[in-house]
Amino acid sequence: MYAVLSDVHSNLEALKSVLQDLKNRHICDIYFIGDAVGYGPEPDECIKLLQTECNIILAGNHDWGVCGLTDIGYFNEYARAAIEWTKGVISIENLDALRSFPALVENKAENITLAHSTPFEPEKWHYLLKSADAVLNFQCFDTKLCFIGHTHRPVIIERHPSGELITNKDNAGIRGDSRYIINAGSIGQPRDGDPRASYAVIDDEKVEIIRVPYNIEATQKKMALAGLPLFLIERIAQGM
Ligand code: ZN
Repeated sequence: MYAVLSDVHSNLEALKSVLQDLKNRHICDIYFIGDAVGYGPEPDECIKLLQTECNIILAGNHDWGVCGLTDIGYFNEYARAAIEWTKGVISIENLDALRSFPALVENKAENITLAHSTPFEPEKWHYLLKSADAVLNFQCFDTKLCFIGHTHRPVIIERHPSGELITNKDNAGIRGDSRYIINAGSIGQPRDGDPRASYAVIDDEKVEIIRVPYNIEATQKKMALAGLPLFLIERIAQGM
């Protein structure tokens, strides 16, 4: 049994609530698939905690934006403002850590591929939104399961050997002849209309999307104190 976490975005309150939930479930194998920072108020604290708790850590587009590996001209104005703010407060040590995180990892032992955006050109940060994107991406990894984040919207896509795609929102059985792309959703800034933190738990038989409430107001207060954009402060309460 293991868990996949994505898109913490410097939201320590949300990350701590999820780690407590994992502790309650006695799950200690944790894979983090990118965007430790950006948008939120506590980048250093989140990177440190992820390094303590996770077996694997990937980079996301915001992580690489902060450490200079992805051009920040690519981001919208709010994301860019938060990246500039993060660059001003993050420690040198954590900048080096962000630079060392990869955009994709294949774990043969678990038969899984982990990517922040997509297994197709993982360093170009594509979004997997349509079924045509899913069809393309199922050709870009060899393992049974592939985990992604980046859209902040959880979804489980099953590909039957016939080629048929079946989509589930919160859970799915893992069948012997199917392959899966699983979006774990976002810990720190969900965008599917549910503001609770989202992550995925997997055992031999099933995958489940877990939602965890956290102290949203506490994060909003820290964001306001940091002077982060009001739009970003309001959106975490709406889950949009
Ligand atoms: Zn993200």
